[in-house]
Amino acid sequence: MAEKRDYYEVLGVDKNASEDEIKKAYRKIAIKYHPDRNPDNKEAEAKFKEAAEAYDVLHDPQKRQQYDQFGFNGPAGAGGFGGFSSAGGFSMDDIFSMFGDVFGGRGGFGGFGGGGQHRPTQHRGSDLRLKVRLSLNEISTGVTKKFKVKKDIQCSHCHGSGAEAGSGTETCPTCHGSGVVTRTTQSLFGMMQTQSVCPTCGGEGKVIKNKCHECGGSGVVKGEEVVEINIPAGVEEGMVVNVPGKGNAGKHNGIPGNIQVYIEEEPNDTFVRDGNNLIYNLLLSFPTAALGGNVEIPTIDGHKVRIKIEPGTQPGKTLRLRGKGLPAVQGYGRGMGDLVVNISIYVPKTLSKDEKQALEKMQKSDNFEGDVSTKQTIFQKFKNYFN
Ligand SMILES: [Zn+2]
Ligand SMILES: [Zn+2]
Repeated sequence: MAEKRDYYEVLGVDKNASEDEIKKAYRKIAIKYHPDRNPDNKEAEAKFKEAAEAYDVLHDPQKRQQYDQFGFNGPAGAGGFGGFSSAGGFSMDDIFSMFGDVFGGRGGFGGFGGGGQHRPTQHRGSDLRLKVRLSLNEISTGVTKKFKVKKDIQCSHCHGSGAEAGSGTETCPTCHGSGVVTRTTQSLFGMMQTQSVCPTCGGEGKVIKNKCHECGGSGVVKGEEVVEINIPAGVEEGMVVNVPGKGNAGKHNGIPGNIQVYIEEEPNDTFVRDGNNLIYNLLLSFPTAALGGNVEIPTIDGHKVRIKIEPGTQPGKTLRLRGKGLPAVQGYGRGMGDLVVNISIYVPKTLSKDEKQALEKMQKSDNFEGDVSTKQTIFQKFKNYFN
């Protein structure tokens, strides 16, 4: 078995490719290596499956982000991407049921109907995208947000059927109920049959006798809905939370789309985020650093913890408060992050006469100069921080 190829390479797209480019690239490959066009060709089948796997990950913003971040195996503990690679890939049936929409209809597409029975199309509503800006406090606990969403909703007059009261549907006169039209054309290789979605009924196989006057027969109207969305704790800028079934209603009581919530993170005045760790910069007074003492550190849950400062604490020293950082997003990663305290020393900008005299006295003592090894330690820490 050859080594797995990078998903972007498989689809021949750029790392920054848009969803549309990914879809187009996948459709091209899927048509080229489609089993109907390459019967009993194992290599084509492998390529067809490889492309489906790449598409499965790259067309889903959340999976794509995880792939970009963690590679094939997904984040630690997540068990990779649906176990495709280890379980030997998914079956042809899976591929058609999952990505049928890429081919512009259910099941077959342009000329490769596969000989099976065509089932009439069920419309799927489109997805909606929302952005939500969260504070670090909200991220630390998770939060439920309410949105007033403008979207296609079911028409209340016809209850989504698209038909005026008392009026039913009849078999589509164009396709006689199959939902597809077949054209025979002359090609280089002889006569070729191409199937496409019926333009009269849009693939449904039936048409409405008397269209609803409210929605014009689509079964959906423009409306508004208040949607409550649970954002799990630990999310990060750029992550996408998918809410199934809350997007636009599908025509004729079809399948509703999803809402995709894009996470934005507000900067925090107290903490800097580093993955699931939080960094707090503690400014110690010189006397406290030299003499030692107790100081209070704020935590993300709004409480404070007291920490002990050893006499002779150096600037650049870090203290780690285990488990006081941010939780990992459900199922990904390992529990809680830490609160990392970076120590710096405060130097006053102005001095009173007494303070000045006291400091001038200290200045005369060699003990305040700092030896070579201390200077090297601080320099090393500084370097490590930037590596
Ligand atoms: Zn209606
Ligand atoms: Zn039709």
